[in-house]
Amino acid sequence: MKIVLTSSEAVPFGKTGGLADVASGLPKALAKRGHDVSLFVPHYPQFIDQSISHTRLFDFNVPINLAIGEETIAGSVLKTVLPDSNVDVYLVDQPELFDRDGIYQSAGGGQYTDNCKRFAFFCRAIMQAIDTLQLCPDVIHANDWQTGLIPALLATEYREQPGFEKTRSVMTIHNLAFQGRSWHFDMQLTGMDWKYFNWEQMESWGELNLLKTGIVFADKITTVSPTYAAEIQTPQFGCGLDAVLRHWSDDLLGIINGSDTDLWNPATDPHIALRYDASTIVAGKAKCKQALQHELGLDEKAHVPLFGMVSRMTDQKGFDLLEHIETQLIDSGAQFAFLGSGEPQFETFIAKLASEHPKQVAAKIGFDNGLAHRIEAGSDAYLMPSYFEPCGLNQMYSMQYGTVPLVCRVGGLADTVVDASTENMATNQANGFSFDRIPQTGEYTFNPQDADQLAFQIERVIDMYRNPELWNQLRMRGILQDWSWTPSAAKFEELYKEIVSAALEDAA
Ligand code: ADP
Repeated sequence: MKIVLTSSEAVPFGKTGGLADVASGLPKALAKRGHDVSLFVPHYPQFIDQSISHTRLFDFNVPINLAIGEETIAGSVLKTVLPDSNVDVYLVDQPELFDRDGIYQSAGGGQYTDNCKRFAFFCRAIMQAIDTLQLCPDVIHANDWQTGLIPALLATEYREQPGFEKTRSVMTIHNLAFQGRSWHFDMQLTGMDWKYFNWEQMESWGELNLLKTGIVFADKITTVSPTYAAEIQTPQFGCGLDAVLRHWSDDLLGIINGSDTDLWNPATDPHIALRYDASTIVAGKAKCKQALQHELGLDEKAHVPLFGMVSRMTDQKGFDLLEHIETQLIDSGAQFAFLGSGEPQFETFIAKLASEHPKQVAAKIGFDNGLAHRIEAGSDAYLMPSYFEPCGLNQMYSMQYGTVPLVCRVGGLADTVVDASTENMATNQANGFSFDRIPQTGEYTFNPQDADQLAFQIERVIDMYRNPELWNQLRMRGILQDWSWTPSAAKFEELYKEIVSAALEDAA
């Protein structure tokens, strides 16, 4: 099949979170299965890995020249390949829109106010480029709100055009909390007719909603884990779109993300002190732990449990719980290594904790890919007490690296982590620790019982860590499981086949 994936971020062209990992891992895995795959991402000159060479498509017959609202915006397309693959990558180049100090927001904090315009241009540029290059895809796969306009453009403007008659679209929701909402008048930036601004299509609670747009116009909708697919149809996790998702539930499917094992693999990882696999896990982890403690200025003690956490610092990720159990964290005697950035309140809390207990707590505020790998390799356990987690990648990376995750039983965390209960240990199913948060109704609010539960679970982890035999059983289970994209790419292939054969039947 000819598959075009579209995403606002992808490793190594720009990354703020898990979407970027998926947008490079999935196309690679599909290409390995024999499909003709291309990927469209914006060209972010400040964030693209400088070793990537690319060429401008001079032979482009129709340059990108688009009416976006009242402006005409010109751009172009650069071409390169995804490293370690034969996936063609098209970089949509428009310096005014994409050569900035951030991907969605300025380094100083606030979201760019013209994000709707930026990604409306991106979506229209992709459709124009697919047309000009005559890629004739079977499937265009949109990811998150930034590409939500694409299924709508396909359904309303392109489907009748040569090269698009059999093209079908998939919309994947990576995080329902981000919907690309803006005031109604931004409709004019999309270039879509105002008749689509209604509650069944592009409008939601009075605003333009680009994620909803993608959901309602796509031929199939996926999200990144089976549990999250069910959760987002409930008011608690539906972020105001649960009724829409219930309406489309027959077309909605949860497919768990995989991990890009070219990038995340302790046996080949260039960032870590000693490479290891299941057969050398004891020596490998001991060396990586000592090196991490040394790098971060922690006490270099081999037998103190070390918890890692690499994360956006937000309520979603459970930083409010950690703030509440500050005393218990310190009294536990364990060490903690934090890497992340986000809400100032949590950055300040973590930085202060580290400055008060420098031998026990380390904090790096910022984005550091190498350190993220070293924390995965050097930690004994990994904290992920998220309130919601569509899929979560770090718990999978942790298990690949023999690092035991402690998670809340939500979304993809519930689908990947099996709690170390007596029963699960006896049947060798356990690979981590998980617990339930108290259910909420309406807007999320902090619940102290969740924080106490987290403190209790940290003690549970420490108890098991003190029993090397059980601990080893737990981490071996994780490192030996298949976390690669292979099983999930096969599920996407099945889904694409289903819509492609339906398209052929429609055409017949
Ligand atoms: P989300 O997409 O919600 O942020 P995921 O767990 O799905 O969470 O993916 C997060 C990805 O971003 C992982 O690859 C993680 O290692 C990476 N990441 C998050 N914060 C940082 C950071 N400060 N430095 C380096 N990598 C980070």
